[in-house]
Amino acid sequence: MLYIVATPIGNLKDITLRALEVLKGVDLIACEDTRHSKILLNHFGIRTPTTSYFQHNRFSKGQYILALLKQGKNIALISDAGTPGILDPGYHLIHLAIKNNIEMTVIPGPTAFISALVLSGRPTHEFIFAGFLPNRQQARRNRLKELAKLKQTIVFYESCHRILAALADIQQVFGNKEVVIARELTKKFEEVKRGPAAEIIAHFQKGAVRGEFVVVI
Ligand code: SAM
Repeated sequence: MLYIVATPIGNLKDITLRALEVLKGVDLIACEDTRHSKILLNHFGIRTPTTSYFQHNRFSKGQYILALLKQGKNIALISDAGTPGILDPGYHLIHLAIKNNIEMTVIPGPTAFISALVLSGRPTHEFIFAGFLPNRQQARRNRLKELAKLKQTIVFYESCHRILAALADIQQVFGNKEVVIARELTKKFEEVKRGPAAEIIAHFQKGAVRGEFVVVI
C-alpha cells in the first residue's frame, strides 16, 4: 500500500500521531530529499529505510517504487514539507499508483496555502490556488492579469528571491487591493502582513528578504 503522508511545514510538533505510526511501520519511506527528511525522522526516532524520490529521478525511481508496491511492500511518500502532491513530485507517483491499481491512502496534515488562506481573513468559501507564478516578468504579469479577472480569493506560493518582483507586478495589476503575505508559517519568524502591495514592498525592503511565502489576494 502507498501512504501519502503530510509532514510539518516548519514546526516539527505539527506531525500527526497517525503519520508517526505509518512512518514507523512501513517498509520504506520515499522522501523528496532524504537528508532533509532525516531531521524529522531522527527527531521522532524513526529508523525506517529511506529512498529519494524527486523531480529528476521520478521516472526511474517511480518504476522502482512501483515494483516494490507490486511485491506487497508498504511505502510512505513524504515531501520536504507539507502535503505530498501539492506542488512537488509526489503527484507523479500518485498518478503512477492509480494507473497500476495500487491501494493508496492519505495521512492528512499541513499544507502551507490552507494555513495562509485561513490566516488571511479573506473569504475562504471559494478560492483559486495558483501554485507558483511564472519566473519571467512578462509571463508573470499576464498570469496576474488573468487572475485579476476572477472573483475568488487567489492564493499562490512565492520564494524569497522573487517576492519583491512579484509584489511589484501585483501593484501594477491590482493597484491598492489588499494583499496578505504569510511568511515562515509555524516557524520562529512567522509573520502575516496585510495591506496594498506598495506598503508590503516598503515593509520587506527594510531588511534582507528571507523565508518562504504564501501570497493571498
Ligand atoms: N507540499 C507543500 C505544501 O503542502 O504546502 C508545498 C511545496 S512547494 C515546493 C514549497 C512552497 O510552499 C514554498 O516556496 C512556499 O511558498 C510554500 N511554503 C512551504 N512552507 C511554508 C511556510 N512554512 N510558510 C510559508 N510558505 C511556505
